[in-house]
Amino acid sequence: MEKALEFYKQQRRKIIAFNYVGFLVGWDMETDAAEQSIMADSEQVAVISEMTYQLMTDPEFEQAVATLYSQRDSLDDVLRHEIEVAYKSVRDTKKIPPDEYAAYGELTSKAYPVYVKAKNENNFELFRPYLEKIVDYCRKQTKWLQTDDLAGYDVLLDMYEPHYNQAKYDRFFNALRERLVPFVKKVTATPVKTPDWAKQTFPADKQKEFCEYLRGVMCFDKSRGIMKVSEHPFTNGFGTDDVRITNHYYENKFDSSIFSAIHETGHALYEQQCDKSLNGTLSGGGASLGLHESQSRFYENVIGRSRAFWQVHYPVLKQTFPEQLSDVNLDDFLAYINTAERSFVRTEADELTYPLHVMLRYEIEQKVISNELQVKDLPQYWKTKFNEYFGITPPTDTLGVLQDVHWAYGNFGYFPTYALGSAIASQLFYYMNKDFDVYASLQSGNTAKINEWLRERVHKYGSSKYPDEILLLATGEAFNPDYYIDYLINKYSR
Ligand code: ZN
Repeated sequence: MEKALEFYKQQRRKIIAFNYVGFLVGWDMETDAAEQSIMADSEQVAVISEMTYQLMTDPEFEQAVATLYSQRDSLDDVLRHEIEVAYKSVRDTKKIPPDEYAAYGELTSKAYPVYVKAKNENNFELFRPYLEKIVDYCRKQTKWLQTDDLAGYDVLLDMYEPHYNQAKYDRFFNALRERLVPFVKKVTATPVKTPDWAKQTFPADKQKEFCEYLRGVMCFDKSRGIMKVSEHPFTNGFGTDDVRITNHYYENKFDSSIFSAIHETGHALYEQQCDKSLNGTLSGGGASLGLHESQSRFYENVIGRSRAFWQVHYPVLKQTFPEQLSDVNLDDFLAYINTAERSFVRTEADELTYPLHVMLRYEIEQKVISNELQVKDLPQYWKTKFNEYFGITPPTDTLGVLQDVHWAYGNFGYFPTYALGSAIASQLFYYMNKDFDVYASLQSGNTAKINEWLRERVHKYGSSKYPDEILLLATGEAFNPDYYIDYLINKYSR
């Protein structure tokens, strides 16, 4: 066992180094690289991920993982979890027929440009044959990877959010359907108009200045991370000491960069506040997509759209844009950033309607994977269901079934984590308030007290435990969607 452990650690050092190079090249592609340089970058990424794959599938490495797995009870908690995850990943990789895997890789890389064309031209038929093959593979995948505990769609769900299956999600989405759908219809019955003041030009450099101020408010450690510009805002972290965020500045939609900055800094704090002892292991970073998203949405929505937060920071925003905001008071601003309305596109949806967009995708995926719904029927099914939940019908497939890229990548099972994140954020908020008055703590001018609570209860574990274990440790309760629905109904009843 000692030999196995030594080999495992040696190989892990190499894997981490390759991951780091991949991280840096990926960052360069998204931020600094010129358009024509991206091709060269992506070739290097392909080589690096091939080499990482070789390290992970090296028979000696597999043997070391198997040895450690068989004696996992004698390992410390962090390493035991890491070995369990590695063992499962090796086992799953072997269950997929290599020729099918290779063909699928080729299929998804060809599907992407076709998807983009289909979306731009509102032509689902163009994309349909690709999506049919992708769905076919995903259905087969559920058979290959089936275990005693996991079957059907659960296999795919578990890949993105371990231990969250249809039983858990059904309870969540059924509650949304029963309590939130009628409420949303009532709240969004009258269409809202964007106020004229919000349509003015807000110079990008001033927006950037304010976003830098917000990073200070959230106590992001600037000596261990940077913020740059990219097409779509994102966060990428490597250990606790190299955490990178991007943002995008739209001069005629100034609030977009503000909430992206708060959202991405929420992700970044999770990475920065992991326990430093996890650096150099495969147990750093966030525990899952859903838990990561719970942190960003906690800061963005629960904190960043609250009166308590802006009571302190709105004066600074006004100073940054004295002309544009001269006649806009705090109430006007709060009403604007908390508007709820019926809209077709998930990524542009507000806090209240957002989870219903995700619910629709969850139901569709369930039916598609279980063979109850066929790809050719998707556009019409989407429109019918959308109308049922929102009371409006998308006029095109571009604004309907073609709007998200996820299915073109074969990411069935991914969507539910988006709504799960918001729901977990509310559960954490409920328990945080039991320990101290969260909104009152914002009067200090920063989020230090909140950060500390999350560090101690969530962040420090990194990915050294499963997300459901961390939530249970943090709140003393398993995932409970009621906190989220109560929070939304409470907030939007006001
Ligand atoms: Zn996010």
